[in-house]
Amino acid sequence: MLKDFIPFHKPYVTDDEINEVVDSIKTGWWTTGPKALKFEEQFKEYIGSKHCLAVNSWTAAAHLALESINLKSGDEVIVPAFTFTATAEIACYFNAKPVIVDVQPDSFNISVEAIEKSITEKTRAIIPVHYGGNPCDMDEIINLAENNNLKIIEDAAHALPASYKGKKIGTVGDVTCFSFYVTKTLATGEGGMICTDDDDIAKRCSVMRLHGINKDSWDRYTSEGSWHYEVIAPGFKYNFTDISAALGLAQLKKIDFLHQSRKRIFEKYNEGFKDNPLLKIYSIKNDRESSHHLYPVLIEIEKLKINRSQFIEELKNHGIGASVHFIPLYRHPYYRDTFNLNAKNFPVSEYIYERVTTLPIWPGMSELEISKVIDVVNIVLNKHKK
Ligand SMILES: *Cc1c(COP(=O)(O)O)cnc(C)c1O
Repeated sequence: MLKDFIPFHKPYVTDDEINEVVDSIKTGWWTTGPKALKFEEQFKEYIGSKHCLAVNSWTAAAHLALESINLKSGDEVIVPAFTFTATAEIACYFNAKPVIVDVQPDSFNISVEAIEKSITEKTRAIIPVHYGGNPCDMDEIINLAENNNLKIIEDAAHALPASYKGKKIGTVGDVTCFSFYVTKTLATGEGGMICTDDDDIAKRCSVMRLHGINKDSWDRYTSEGSWHYEVIAPGFKYNFTDISAALGLAQLKKIDFLHQSRKRIFEKYNEGFKDNPLLKIYSIKNDRESSHHLYPVLIEIEKLKINRSQFIEELKNHGIGASVHFIPLYRHPYYRDTFNLNAKNFPVSEYIYERVTTLPIWPGMSELEISKVIDVVNIVLNKHKK
């Protein structure tokens, strides 16, 4: 049975990725070099934002974004409860406060009403997370940000490629940060991208991503005889390597194919689950396109003799790797204790958390594997019906 195990995720690799990486190793450009620059250029062309700056993770990208808006100790940043810790921890780097708010029941995205209620005179920014690649209600969020003089830093770790009312994610908020972590929709192992139309933000992020040096390393090593550089701030070591960029270039070429592959699985799952009253599938509004990074279902625990953990365990026993995205932030000891958070104040996140199960959705899944996931999910749920 183990040989048939369907993992939660498997990176999509062809000879393109392997050949590009080997080429980087052979040319000697192991760290930031021509491929990192080329990847930024091609990414910019694909997304359509004015600036794209590659760094070594989403976390680095978003840290730089908050630094570039001059976030200060005591400031507040509004984030959804239903996300990965990185979304909130970056505010803590500045001794600022992540103000954790509830999400919407249909999309699991940040609640616009909750944002509105949480704005104070200390609020500086909102970090909407496009859960699973399904874009947030950006018009409403932009409206709140404009009325209250706040910056929007989008957590688009899941949202490549995705679009909102015809605009690609990466061109909507003030700054958009992507992740190229191995499980994400474009994977380079570790990596991230900052997209913005703002020249000042781009300039500051560009300087701060490599030690606060006011030229990047590519210029430094290739312009003739230029050994001179100036440090203008205590920056970070967040630059993107050419070996990662090699993977990125190979993946970017087939980004639309990878997207279509996930979308097909999404549609097959929807079809396979639509008549099962023991689970709910989540909804994506017609005015936006998801990247389909995750496929979440909510199991109807009131109608079942098992809970969500037991459900995942049974799927595993039947050869399917499922997961949970996410353990809400207020459930983690650090956020709960530091910010005095109580699960009672997050009824929607609690409801989702007790039921949500994310199923495998990766390009390269065979028809047989897709059908097996559908069959096993339906069989396991029916077996444990009350
Ligand atoms: C993966 C992820 C991150 C962090 O990305 P890294 O590139 O690993 O830093 C941030 N936010 C969300 C929602 C994620 O899923």
